[in-house]
Amino acid sequence: MSVLVFAEHDGAVLKDATHKTVAAALALGGPVDVLVAGANAGPIAALAAAIEGVRKVLLADSQAFSPPIAEALSALIVPLMADYDALLAPATATGKNFIPRVAALLDVSPVSEIIAIPGPKTFQRPIYAGNAIETVESMDAKIIATVRPTAFKAAGTSENAPIENLAIPAFNVATQFVGEELSKSDRPELASAKRVVSGGRAMGSAENFALIEALADRIGAAVGASRAAVDAGYAPNDYQVGQTGKVVAPELYVAIGISGAIQHLAGMKDSRVIVAINKDADAPIFQIADFGLVADLFSAVPELTRSLD
Ligand SMILES: Cc1cc2nc3c(=O)[nH]c(=O)nc-3n(C[C@H](O)[C@H](O)[C@H](O)COP(=O)(O)OP(=O)(O)OC[C@H]3O[C@@H](n4cnc5c(N)ncnc54)[C@H](O)[C@@H]3O)c2cc1C
Repeated sequence: MSVLVFAEHDGAVLKDATHKTVAAALALGGPVDVLVAGANAGPIAALAAAIEGVRKVLLADSQAFSPPIAEALSALIVPLMADYDALLAPATATGKNFIPRVAALLDVSPVSEIIAIPGPKTFQRPIYAGNAIETVESMDAKIIATVRPTAFKAAGTSENAPIENLAIPAFNVATQFVGEELSKSDRPELASAKRVVSGGRAMGSAENFALIEALADRIGAAVGASRAAVDAGYAPNDYQVGQTGKVVAPELYVAIGISGAIQHLAGMKDSRVIVAINKDADAPIFQIADFGLVADLFSAVPELTRSLD
């Protein structure tokens, strides 16, 4: 089954989610090609060409894809799909944005957030905030799907595959990109960090969130938050972990002052080691925690951070 994988990047870095989506594509069969779309994206294409198992990279180097809005990407990808049986994209904000549009234009049902591929057209995906796993078989001629990156091991690197420059089709897009506000941070990226420290409503204020950041910095972790903490303005939107936030599966997840609502667990329960600090011994988070500390976070967290000196 020939598969086209959409490369996730920010213009400077090829995201690890791409390597994981290539791994999913290889599980579907192959050959696997990677599409890199963006302005001055040659260096990104070179990185994609070094992913193990990739046959070739298609480079669509144009300002039209920077940033990658769904309308422009669909106009590029739909004609390319004449040569492929499947299109996979990471289930990121970009992937979730354009995949439904491509599927609609090709008149197929998209399959979202696949976490396993038991058969050539059979997929597993979480439903009900991760409380059940659904197995679906696609009856469509082409597979159009998003892949949950945390469910797949990243493909390695190998010798460089060839890069093919695509002619950019003329298209008229009615949507215009106006701007974006991104929080800047030197910390690891939340979605792919090996360690994450998250704070909940119990933090009580944006100032108190510094306790979470200090602990995170001490152990080289990314910072996350519950939706309650984000809604209260204690942490920025892009820190949110959970059903309506980011899905993470780090080696270590530290949940501080977070009760463990199912919508939060949907975003972090696949973490390898879960540590919870909560003053309520009956908080649901302790049911999935590997290590739990029943304590007031305002004394326990500074003490923990100091002890790591
Ligand atoms: C459709 C939908 C989607 C949602 N999506 C998400 C999502 O993506 N992510 C998400 O997180 N939530 C999501 N939610 C919200 C979710 O249901 C919970 O409301 C939210 O996760 C609660 O956040 P919290 O644990 O920080 O707050 P709370 O539930 O209020 O818990 C605070 C915890 O802190 C503890 N605590 C209080 N003071 C201290 C202290 N001094 N020291 C130690 N512990 C203390 C308390 O015992 C309590 O357990 C969603 C809800 C809906 C309906």
